[in-house]
Amino acid sequence: MKTSILAWAALCAAPMPSLAAPADPNPRISAIVSEISPARIESTIRTLAAFGTRNSLSDTVSETRGIGAARRWIKSRLDECARASGGRLEVSFDPHHVESGSRVPRPTDFVNVVATLPGEQPESRSRVYVVSGHYDSMPTSPTDGESDAPGANDDASGTAVSMELACVMSRHHFDATLVFMTVAGEEQGLYGSTGFAKDARAKGLDVQGMLDNDIVGNTRSAEGAIDQGRVRLFAQGVPPMKELPDDVLAALRTGGENDLPPRQLARAVAAAARTYVPGLRVQTVWRRDRFLRGGDHFPFLAEGYPAVRFTEPVENWNHQHQNVRVENGIQYGDLPEFVDFGYVAQVARVNAAALASLALAPAAPKEARIEALRLESDTTLSWAPNAEPDLAGYRIVWRATTAPDWEHAKDVGNVTRATLHVSKDDYAFGIEAYDREGNVSPAAYPLPLLPRRPPVVK
Ligand SMILES: [Zn+2]
Repeated sequence: MKTSILAWAALCAAPMPSLAAPADPNPRISAIVSEISPARIESTIRTLAAFGTRNSLSDTVSETRGIGAARRWIKSRLDECARASGGRLEVSFDPHHVESGSRVPRPTDFVNVVATLPGEQPESRSRVYVVSGHYDSMPTSPTDGESDAPGANDDASGTAVSMELACVMSRHHFDATLVFMTVAGEEQGLYGSTGFAKDARAKGLDVQGMLDNDIVGNTRSAEGAIDQGRVRLFAQGVPPMKELPDDVLAALRTGGENDLPPRQLARAVAAAARTYVPGLRVQTVWRRDRFLRGGDHFPFLAEGYPAVRFTEPVENWNHQHQNVRVENGIQYGDLPEFVDFGYVAQVARVNAAALASLALAPAAPKEARIEALRLESDTTLSWAPNAEPDLAGYRIVWRATTAPDWEHAKDVGNVTRATLHVSKDDYAFGIEAYDREGNVSPAAYPLPLLPRRPPVVK
């Protein structure tokens, strides 16, 4: 008895592989990341800023100024990339009409430009990942459609990320479907993204991840300090709702508040960044967004889709939502001269690595369960088999309940049930699926499989 306890203790104390180290890179994903072009991103941002204003209430008829000219240019660029992809990238306008609102003084069409790259594996095609930036801009007043609002950082930077990814990634092939979106009406109240997210839910679209890029181009604080080494990734935990959905409640009953889909998505994004973009650290922030701010990931979260937001490390509010002017020797306005184009390219590389990893990998395992049928010190997990033909196996990951990221992993092969000599009471678990190429899914949080009649516990 004593021997077996000691042996068991030794097993538990044995060093387990740490997951903080980057995984082996997939050469296909490395190639995609290497094709991101800082020069093309700079050119996109300068062109967008040169439309004068892209306010959603600005001119829609002019060919040189206003939001109409801007969106026609975005579509024409994406159409070129669609031709280069052999017609696989599908580009369209996605209009949403709004009659009135607090920042919508007259009936307005908010028109997204959406580029879709359909997945090529039948079992994965219905699984969708969205990357988005908003191409509308605002000067000091959100309803001022006349004044200059170059919006170079907010959010030509995120728009350029989405467009660059559309053009680079449409030259490659993925299992799941990718949607590269640039949306309007963000500054008016998230109208473009809300329209898309509501339609997606109504159509039953299986959006398994949405990456919002908004204000991803400034690396210099108002005091002059420079930080180019990190990007913030905002990831919501428990949704702030009066009545929670059943699946959220079920996860909360076993301490799963940090394992809901947006945080699993954020872990997968940060892991891809560690492997493919070691020069840029993803600093995950466990909240929905910064104080007093919001973004196009909100409507996706509201529809129950996992969505996260990228934003630069330090912000300079003299260059956001400001009329272009000089006051007391200070230049105000969101001008291209304040954008760090090389940094935007780094953020684009992180997005590309994350999206490619997600769209090449199998889906996260479904019906993940942690058996709680009796009191025991082992942990038994089970899940439904994945449908992808290139699926190779499953990996169990776990961490202390107070740790932010996975600490341990065990490859259990191509099975649908596995037992670990680790106490489920002390750790948070996840189940990942991987394919023959080594692409790994985000982790699925196992909900408890309970006995029909719970035992009496004292
Ligand atoms: Zn913005």
